[in-house]
Amino acid sequence: MTKFSFLLMAFVFFVSDASAQDKYQDELLADLTYLASDDLKGRANFSPEIDVAADYIQNRFKEIGLKPFRGEKSFLQAVPVYKYAVTEANLKLNNTVIDGVNLAVVSTADGDSSFNLDMLSVTHVGPGQELKTELRQLNMLGGNHLVLIDNSHVKWFNIYRNYFSRGLTKKSLSERGTLFLVLTDLTSVKSAVADAEVKLEIKELFNVVGVLPGQELKDEYVLYSSHYDHLGMMPEDQSSSADKDRIFNGADDNASGTSAVINLAAQFAAQNKNKRTLIFSAFSGEEIGGFGSKFFSKQLDPAKIIAMVNIEMIGKPSKFGPGITWITGPKRSNFMTLINNYLEPEGIKVHADPYPDQRLFYRSDNASLAKFGVPAHSFSTTQLDKDIHYHQVTDDVSTLNLESMNNVVNTIKLFSEGINDGTITPSRIEPKPEQASGKIY
Ligand SMILES: [Zn+2]
Repeated sequence: MTKFSFLLMAFVFFVSDASAQDKYQDELLADLTYLASDDLKGRANFSPEIDVAADYIQNRFKEIGLKPFRGEKSFLQAVPVYKYAVTEANLKLNNTVIDGVNLAVVSTADGDSSFNLDMLSVTHVGPGQELKTELRQLNMLGGNHLVLIDNSHVKWFNIYRNYFSRGLTKKSLSERGTLFLVLTDLTSVKSAVADAEVKLEIKELFNVVGVLPGQELKDEYVLYSSHYDHLGMMPEDQSSSADKDRIFNGADDNASGTSAVINLAAQFAAQNKNKRTLIFSAFSGEEIGGFGSKFFSKQLDPAKIIAMVNIEMIGKPSKFGPGITWITGPKRSNFMTLINNYLEPEGIKVHADPYPDQRLFYRSDNASLAKFGVPAHSFSTTQLDKDIHYHQVTDDVSTLNLESMNNVVNTIKLFSEGINDGTITPSRIEPKPEQASGKIY
C-alpha cells in the first residue's frame, strides 16, 4: 500500500465519517421538526395525533433495525388507563337542593349510585382546619363520604372542584369510593339524599419500545428514554382570538428528547458493537403523571437495568452554556462521577442539576425506575427559572438552538458508549418503598 493510497483512504474515511455525522444531524432535525409539527396538535394523551406520533417513532425504530421488546410483534407497548368521569351528581341536605357551584363530586364507583345519610360518613371541615389534610385522610380510607366544608375554604374548594370536574385518570382499577364535597354553613345534617352517575372508560396509552440486543452481556440492559406526549391544544375559550396559536408543540418538551433517543438508537445500531442490550423507549403519559414509565417499570426486572439515561428538554443552551448538559439527582449514584471520568479526555463535562429546589429528579420518567434501585437520571439543559416557553404554545422549534442540542446528543452518545460496552457501571440508587396511594382520587 502506497503512502498516497493510505492518505486517500484516510481522507475517504474522514469524509464518510463527517458525512455520517451530517446525516445524523439532519435526521435529528427532521425527527424533531416532525414531532413538534402542528400536524400532531401537541401530542395530547388519548388524542388521535399522539397515535400518529407513536407510529412515526415505531417506523423510525423499524428503519433503524431495532427489535420489538421481549420478542413481541410490535414496538407499541399498550398501557391500560382507567378514566372515571362523574357525568351527573345531585345532593339534597335537610330537604334542600345544593346548588351545583357549591358541590364537588369525585368517584370511582362505576355506574349509578344513590346514597342516604346512613350510607355516608359525614365530616365537617371548620374554618381552623386544613381542608387538604382532611380530604387526604378520607381518600386513604376509601368509602363514601359527605364533607361539609366551611365557606372560608372557598378558594381550595374551587381548586378541588375544578380538579375533580376533569375526571380521574388511574393506572389500575380503584377500590370504590365517592366523595361529596359541599361548601356550606352547615356543621351537621339531619337528612341527605345523594346520587352520582359515573362513567368508567378503559383506555390505552402506548409506549414505543425498541431493542438492540447485546453482543456479550445480553442480560444487562441500558435504557434510553424520553417522553413523547405533551399538552395538546389550549381550549378555545382560554385563547384570546381565533387565529392565535393554540397548539402546544412541545418542541423542547419533549420532542427534543425523543428525537435524541431515536438518534442514539440509529448511531448505536450503526456502530453495531454494544456488549449490553440497549432498550430505547419513548414513553407516553408523562405529562399526566408518568403512566407510561410506571407501567414499563413493571414489565421487566429492574435489577437487570444497569443504567437509565432519560432525556428531557435539551433544545436550548443550559445555564452552563450551549451544548452543555446537566444530570438530575447527581448525588444519588456515582453515575455523574463515572461519566465525567470517562469524558475527561474529550474535555467535556456533565454538570450537576443547578435547580435542586425544583426536585426535577422526581419530575420525569427516571423516577419510575429509580424507585426500584435503577441508576436512573434525567439529562437536560432547560433553564426552568427563566424559560418563558415552558408549557406554553410558544414552545416551537424556532425557539431551539439546534447546534447546542446536537452537541448535547453527542455528549450523551460519547459517555453512553462507555456504558454500552460495559466499561461504566453506575452504583444503584437507594430504592424507595411504594407509597400508598389514595383509594378514591
Ligand atoms: Zn412538560
